[in-house]
Formats: sequence, structure tokens, C-alpha cells
Amino acid sequence: MATTVAHPTTTSYDLGPARWLSCRECGHQSPLAPEFACAECFGPLEIAYGFGPVTRAEIEAGPKSIWRYRSLLPVPSDVHLYPNTEPGLTRLIRADRLGAELGIKNLWLKDDTGNPTHSFKDRVVAVALAAARELGFRVLACPSTGNLANAVAAAAARAGWRSVVLVPSSLEPAKILMTAVYGTTLIAVDGNYDDANRLATELAAEEEDWAFVNVNVRPYYAEGSKTLGFEVAEQLGWRLPEQIVVPVASGSQLTKVDKAFRELGELGLVEPVPYRMFGAQATGCSPVSVAFAEGHDVVRPVRPDTIARSLAIGNPADGPYVLDSVRRTGGAVTDVSDAEVVDGIRLLARTEGIFAETAGGVTVACTRKLVNAGQLDPDADTVLLITGDGLKTLDAVADQVGPTATVEPTTASVRSALCAV
Ligand SMILES: *Cc1c(COP(=O)(O)O)cnc(C)c1O
Ligand SMILES: [Zn+2]
Repeated sequence: MATTVAHPTTTSYDLGPARWLSCRECGHQSPLAPEFACAECFGPLEIAYGFGPVTRAEIEAGPKSIWRYRSLLPVPSDVHLYPNTEPGLTRLIRADRLGAELGIKNLWLKDDTGNPTHSFKDRVVAVALAAARELGFRVLACPSTGNLANAVAAAAARAGWRSVVLVPSSLEPAKILMTAVYGTTLIAVDGNYDDANRLATELAAEEEDWAFVNVNVRPYYAEGSKTLGFEVAEQLGWRLPEQIVVPVASGSQLTKVDKAFRELGELGLVEPVPYRMFGAQATGCSPVSVAFAEGHDVVRPVRPDTIARSLAIGNPADGPYVLDSVRRTGGAVTDVSDAEVVDGIRLLARTEGIFAETAGGVTVACTRKLVNAGQLDPDADTVLLITGDGLKTLDAVADQVGPTATVEPTTASVRSALCAV
């Protein structure tokens, strides 16, 4: 990459193709380190790379996990040799029956319920853990709306690390259980996610050997979301979809999938054709959707109130970058009510046999809304990211579904029950 800027001297860390940290606001560059805010302007730091030549064949011959893309991630080159939960390479499936219901001709689902702890968070945590190990940490920590806690606790257990997770005390029981079982130190905070996040930022400044995956090692962690974009392109036969719908919490996933598509084009791994990014939120926590609708560049924080708790971040760190991304690519951000979220979960389950958590319901319901509003092109190749498993949010549908009938164990009573429905 030709450039006249003098780069800071790189450190001795082996973080693969990562070369330095670059501020997303002012462009200031600094050496690779466990830092997340620019020393000049406090803007968020992002990994800058010096990629070597990468071929499709090399990637295809790699591990059947996110580590097949390790030459595009800020992780040591031998990362795949250490114990880890090996997330990724989840299935991408045609969804013709859901497509017919939504009026979309060519629809695919990226089914990330198949990850080790049943959400896409295993991807970002695996990358954060690998980078944190190289940066000298030995404790993995996070504030979480639930899925991140599951992923951190499992990854730390597999690596033999201690972990500490901070969750809102109101979290769904399943998510508490699915975290605690891994033997983590689980701290329930009386407050919402934004309170837990602020507390984590304060703790990160004091506990120097704690890697808070989404705080002090956030620049590394965030790059893990690129693997969703890499996999979608590879699984479509090394091409980009024309449209992709992504659920938005902090907004990191959407901006990194966009970054992945651009990197694949720049590296010559796909044809760099135009694509459109779409963001999906629940109305009860829709600060990015509201800013999009009002034409604002800044995202005004809200107090979340929605069943889509994995997306309930009222003050999304990457909100402004989501707005940049969807505006640059000609996409949009929208939001749907909790009732529509439940309908979305049921529609996906009934048409494609995938039981998603509330975030998946948000994505499906927002897709329907975007098609009906003429914002999504029904004739364009479209991918939806289904990012978490329905077993984590059973409460969302518990009072909506149940036995069709309860009968005596006789064929006659089954038959009369069948007549009644
Ligand atoms: C965390 C999460 C997201 C989105 O995360 P971002 O903070 O926007 O990167 C989407 N779906 C599920 C299930 C999640 O847990
Ligand atoms: Zn800066």
C-alpha cells in the first residue's frame, strides 16, 4: 500500500497482518497496544493492516472455522494451534419459503445459531482472546447483554483462563444459566447494559491484567465480525450479495461486515461490485434507526425497553458509523415493534425450521418492513444475518405457542381434535 505517512514503529507483537492502530475520527496512528481511544481526540481506534497476498485456495484449504481467515485478522499466525471454541463457518442456506412470504426472489440466511454458544458473539470473542493472549493478558472480561457473557465464559473455560462478566441483573434466566455453567465469575449489576458498560470502563482502567473484550481490546474484538462478511462471500461462491440485513446493537457488526466486503474487493478475492447495507433495530431501542429517519449524523442515546435484549444498547458506540455505512451504500436502518419481533421469530421458524432468538425476529421483521416500504429491492440477491438461537429467549414466544390439543390416548380423540382445528 503506497503512502507518504510516517507510521509509528511497530511493536514486537505477532498480530498477523495488523500493523498499527488508527483513529477513526482524526486518523492519528499509534502502535498496536491494548488501547481503544485516540490519545489525540478520544475517537475510537481501529486496526490498520498491511495485508500480504491472499488467495481463495489458501483460505479454502484452511480450518473449518473463522481461522481460515486468520491472514485477514489481528491474531497471531499460529492462532489455530491453541485451544479455542472454533466458531464460524456456520451454514448459509437458501430460504425460498421465507423469501416467498417476504416477496424476495433470492434470499439466503446466515445461520449463526450454530456457533459453540449459539450466537455470533463466539466470533468476536475468539479474536479478542487470541489478541489478548498476545498482548499479555490472562483474564477475559466483559459487560454483556447476555450473548457476549456466554461466549466469554465458554472461550475462557476452553483456554484455561479466568473470566469475569458483568450483566444487567434483569437478564433472561437462560442467559444467566448458560454463562454461569462455564464456571465464570458472574456479576449481576443492578442497572441496565449501559450501566454495566460504564462500570466495565472504570474497572478496565484499574484492573490492568483484565482484557475486557469489548472495552480495552475492542479494536481487536470488533474485527471478528468481519468473518461473517468473509463467510457470506465465500459461501455465495466468492461474490458479494447485493443486499444484506444486519441487526444493530452497538453497530459494530454492521460496520465490520461492510469493512469485510470492501477488503475482499480490495484484495481481489471478489469482484468489487456495489452492495447495500441495511440495519435492523427494535423500536424499544432504536436510536440509530431514529437518527437515520431524521437525517442526523449523531445518535441520541435512549433508555432501552424491548424484548430484544441482546440488541438493547441505548448508547451505541458505532451508531454514527452505521449511519455512514448505510448512507454510503444506499441502504437504510429501520425498526419494528416487539409484537412484530415475535411474528418474525415465528415466521422464520415456520418457513425455514430455524428457531432464532429475538435479534433474529428483529432482522426478519425489519426485512419485511423494508420490502413493503420499497427500500429493499425484492429482485436483488439478499442475505439476512440470523445471529442467535431461540433457546436463549424462550419467554418471547412462551405465551404464543403450545399444544394444538390435549387428548385422551385414543385414535378417536385425536381424530375429533383434528376436526376441531
Ligand atoms: C451482540 C449481538 C448483535 C449485534 O451486535 P453489535 O453490538 O451491533 O455488533 C446481534 N445479534 C446478537 C444475537 C447479538 O448478541
Ligand atoms: Zn483521533
